[in-house]
Amino acid sequence: MEARRAGPMDGALELLELLGHLPGHLLTVISAEGQPTYVTPSVAESLGYTPEEFLEQLPTLVHPEDLEQSRAAWRGVMAGPDARVAVTVRLRHADGSWRWVEAVGVNAVDHPALGGVVWNYRDVSENVRAAATLAASERRFRTMLEQSYDLFLIVGGDLTIQWANPGTTTTMGYEPDEVTGVNVLDFVHPDDHELAARNLLAALAGTPPPEPTVVRARRRDGSWIWVDVVGADLRDHEMVGGFALCLREVTHRQEAELRVRRSEERFRALVQNAADSIVVLASDGTIEYVGGERQLFGRAVDEVLGHDSVEWVHPDDLPRLAGELGEVVSMPGASRQSTFRVLSGEGRWRWAEATVTNMTDNAAVGGIVANVRDVTERIEAEQDAQRLIQLFEATEDHVGITDPDGRLLLLNATARRHLGLDPDQPLPEVDLRSFFPPWERHRVDHELIPALIERGSWSGELEIARPGTDETIPVLAQLLAHRDPEGRIEYFSAVLRDISERKAFEARLEHAATHDPLTGLPNRTLLLDRLTMALARARRHHTLAAVLFLDLDHFKVINDSHGHSLGDQLLAAIAQRLTAALRPDDTVARFGGDEFVVLCEELRNETQALVVAQRILKALEGVFEIGGTEIFVGASIGISYFRVDGDGETTSETLLREADAAMYRAKDRGRAQIAVFDETLRSRNLRRLDTETALRRALERDELEVHFQPIVDLASGRVRELEALVRWNHPDRGLLLPAEFIPIAEETGLIIPIGARVLEAACEELARWEHAFPDLQPVNISVNLSGRQLGDPGLPDQLAGIMARTGVQPERIVLEITESVLMDDVEFSHQTLARLKTLRVRLAVDDFGTGYSSLSYLRTFPVDVLKVDRSFVAGLGTEGGDEAIVAAIIRLAHTLGLEAVAEGVETAAQLERLQVLGCDLAQGYHLSRPIPAGEVTSVLGRIMVTEPRR
Ligand code: C2E
Ligand code: MG
Ligand code: MG
Repeated sequence: MEARRAGPMDGALELLELLGHLPGHLLTVISAEGQPTYVTPSVAESLGYTPEEFLEQLPTLVHPEDLEQSRAAWRGVMAGPDARVAVTVRLRHADGSWRWVEAVGVNAVDHPALGGVVWNYRDVSENVRAAATLAASERRFRTMLEQSYDLFLIVGGDLTIQWANPGTTTTMGYEPDEVTGVNVLDFVHPDDHELAARNLLAALAGTPPPEPTVVRARRRDGSWIWVDVVGADLRDHEMVGGFALCLREVTHRQEAELRVRRSEERFRALVQNAADSIVVLASDGTIEYVGGERQLFGRAVDEVLGHDSVEWVHPDDLPRLAGELGEVVSMPGASRQSTFRVLSGEGRWRWAEATVTNMTDNAAVGGIVANVRDVTERIEAEQDAQRLIQLFEATEDHVGITDPDGRLLLLNATARRHLGLDPDQPLPEVDLRSFFPPWERHRVDHELIPALIERGSWSGELEIARPGTDETIPVLAQLLAHRDPEGRIEYFSAVLRDISERKAFEARLEHAATHDPLTGLPNRTLLLDRLTMALARARRHHTLAAVLFLDLDHFKVINDSHGHSLGDQLLAAIAQRLTAALRPDDTVARFGGDEFVVLCEELRNETQALVVAQRILKALEGVFEIGGTEIFVGASIGISYFRVDGDGETTSETLLREADAAMYRAKDRGRAQIAVFDETLRSRNLRRLDTETALRRALERDELEVHFQPIVDLASGRVRELEALVRWNHPDRGLLLPAEFIPIAEETGLIIPIGARVLEAACEELARWEHAFPDLQPVNISVNLSGRQLGDPGLPDQLAGIMARTGVQPERIVLEITESVLMDDVEFSHQTLARLKTLRVRLAVDDFGTGYSSLSYLRTFPVDVLKVDRSFVAGLGTEGGDEAIVAAIIRLAHTLGLEAVAEGVETAAQLERLQVLGCDLAQGYHLSRPIPAGEVTSVLGRIMVTEPRR
């Protein structure tokens, strides 16, 4: 060691030695031959050897696994002067352990002092160990990354994904490649976007996110999962160079949390419910504690503490509640629920529901705990509902509810009864249309259902089937479609009211309105209806219809002689015979007092109607026995036909009028006859119609004039009266006599204005004559009144008005009323005549002797004059016996204090006989024809009878 010491000890070795003293450093010099020649004394400290030991053993101290490496390093360093290598090998420590050393060799073979390779060893065991640990952990980390269900993402500063672990596939369904380059926020649920962005930005800015980033992330299949995201800013990390995100799926946790939160909220809501109170009772029932609330049923807690728990309970509920409480109190652990009424602080009864639990054996409680709740609203709602259900069940209406497809959901008791269902029998699965008779089904489909869907309701009358029968029930239906808030039909409801009774009542009313109460036959109204329909049918089907107008012969006589009651019974009996004699399809109606009309449809020919008429007459032939009286009646029948090919204008009224006209013709031929309305009658009838129209026009155009026929006083031979007789100065037909138009004027009511015109004209003329001949004996005017005029309640006023206007005294006016008009309604005549008489006018019975009046009646009428009908006067002076009648009438008149006037005196002989018989007055062609007003002056004051009676 001397030599070595002597050799290179020119400072280089001293430097080495110095270096070797630096902590952790060890230097050796190895000759070009490979012989270690020097080692710094620090070897003892580093490896535990003395320098001698180290120099001796060095080649054996290298780890066998590192030998090759170290040889390579030797070769490298021996490559030339100043060559330099570094190698890390293991050297054995003196304690036997291996130390990692990094050896840096420098070729200093040419160095005069060193003459070898200088190796500088540094113990790097710690480094190597750390590196190994790192590598291992990195491996584990990588495995973890790859196996993890968690997602690991590396995101750039622009938030695009740069790397994703395979967990992306398992958890999210994306391949890692698919997500790289995509903005990470694209996967975040829109609702969570804000939170995610805020937290990411915070992290990027280096501040910790204010709240956990739990957001929903979209999986590849579109579903959402909850993920909890944590991140680390590793942008500065050389290997990562980005923002590392770890996403952990927390869907279950999140949902569980949500559930918990909700149930907590619910729980809180329940607990916080103002209606709930926890009340602790002592075992004797006094209230010891009230939890949570400051009020209990409107009473301050302080007020109730110490009181008996049942103090405010309704007396009706008390026994029950006391019993239940008693059960709980007697048994620790027992629990009961009860509902009862409590008088609230506001003084009103409220419903309480209490769950009472005996917790006396629970040390913490040591009492009876009642959870009390105010359930007034619920109970009242239930009661309301109950009442509604009771109503629903009790109503006589049929009530039902169906789903939108028409399946029955609910039926009330009435509807169930109707269908024959027991109360707890399940509702049948039936087609709703089966509830309706076939003819209503079309309406249901085409009217009801569309209306329900479009307008939401339908109401009206319907018929429903009565199950198991062919019968139907008329109902008034109210149908509603109920919609939910979105407007979808939720269900349909129907309320059907049985209106059978109303219908029956209506039918009775209808029957009463359209039928004659006496005979039960259709009345005039219904007949006209049926006739109109029959005509329409006949027009459509080109069939033949006939109307038979039937008038009983002499019914008035029967009625008068046997009384109205018998007459009524007879009419009813006749109605029965008529009905029996006809086909069911024929209509027989009572048209008036003793008039019946038969309507026959679909006749094969005209003789068929004649056959029907004959059958009717035959049916009436037999004797009627009424109240023990035997009665025979006959009838006259007029027939009119309706033919389509005939007059298209024919109406039911014309048809009736024609049958009526035919009936009169039958009567003209004698009794129990049948006549058919034919062309002759038709033309005559047409003329009548024309007349009516023309007559109206005549009134307007003043074509009516009044002629006067003198009535001569047989004692003085002078004109005492003038009878006003109306004439129609027809523009085409000349002067028409009353017979041509008075009957039509009567029928149509035109007689009223005509009569007024005549009365006025007569009075005007009289006033003029009186004015012209003031010295002459005053004359009277005689005016004829028709039945229709007599029935006119305005007549007395009209008369008074005319007298006032013309200044004619009432004593100068004679009103003539025919005997038959007077006798038509005796009672009425009495009244009318009495009223006229108050005006102080004179009254005459015209055409006396033709109207079957009886003496007893005549006596009671306040009349002044009897006018003997001209038919009796005509027979005077001839061989016949009429003179006796005229004489009797004149005597009768005088007996009753009346004057007698003879009408129609045409010959001197008649006049003479009348004079002999003591007749007071006479009128007739023999004396004067009716003359125009202008000619009257020529007869006034003249002696018209050559030998007046003295
Ligand atoms: P009446 O009241 O009995 O009138 C007498 C009728 O006998 C008149 O017929 C008259 O012209 C007619 N006459 C008079 N003398 C003779 C005679 O010697 N021989 C014949 N054959 N006839 C004679 P007229 O004017 O045609 O009137 C007929 C009936 O018409 C009247 O019968 C009367 O009932 C009615 N009448 C006339 N004018 C009116 C009137 O203004 N109002 C009403 N309601 N009826 C009237
Ligand atoms: Mg007259
Ligand atoms: Mg007369």
